[in-house]
Amino acid sequence: MKNDSLTRYAEINEKNKREIVLLRGSGCKWRRCAFCDYHLDFSPDENSNYVLNQEVLKNVTGKYKRLEVINSGSFVDLDKMTFQLIIDTCIQKKIEKIHFECHWMHRDAIANLRNTFDSYGIHANIKIGVETFNAPFRENVLHKGINETSPAKIAALFDEVCLLFGLAGQTETSMQYDIETGLANFNRVCINIMVENTTKIKPNPAVIETFIHKIYPLYQDNERVDILLENTDFGVG
Ligand code: SF4
Repeated sequence: MKNDSLTRYAEINEKNKREIVLLRGSGCKWRRCAFCDYHLDFSPDENSNYVLNQEVLKNVTGKYKRLEVINSGSFVDLDKMTFQLIIDTCIQKKIEKIHFECHWMHRDAIANLRNTFDSYGIHANIKIGVETFNAPFRENVLHKGINETSPAKIAALFDEVCLLFGLAGQTETSMQYDIETGLANFNRVCINIMVENTTKIKPNPAVIETFIHKIYPLYQDNERVDILLENTDFGVG
């Protein structure tokens, strides 16, 4: 399904300065996360994806030497031409660090990606959407598809973790546990707050209130924690 009304380029000018591009690939191969409709941004047409991605990547200036690539799924869903263009853009714009997202099911592809970028002197950071370290909730309710309960074992393959807050059942204690577990095991933690979308999972206003008043003040100045208060979970693998 094509969805070209999305904002596909952004600069983050505060904490964790970087440019972000939302590219289009062949689509998430998991597609079962109960809270996500972001995987609808895809096309099976590689050429049209490439044409779109070409336009998006033209925006990259390299001003922060850091580029985050997101694509409604995992980096493996991007076509080969787009991939080469990402590499070329990084070289031309002197990008030193690139960030990609990846679902657990594609973890075996990460080493090759790191090696490819290493060969150009570019450091690749890989982000995984774990959403919560409460594995039964994550797998039985959110259907995240991570068949590993150990945060350390998940983190062995990934650099950054996304968490999803604002869901019924989450508490001040559970959210703080998730953040602290993320910080203890990953380089960075990215917190997304659930917003209304087309899925049956709804944002829980009381949980969001708790987050804003009790959790946000504790981490808003933490350089290793990104908080997207008014954004959706962008379907980070
Ligand atoms: S959250 Fe990510 S892995 Fe899950 S269905 Fe959405 S795009 Fe796929």
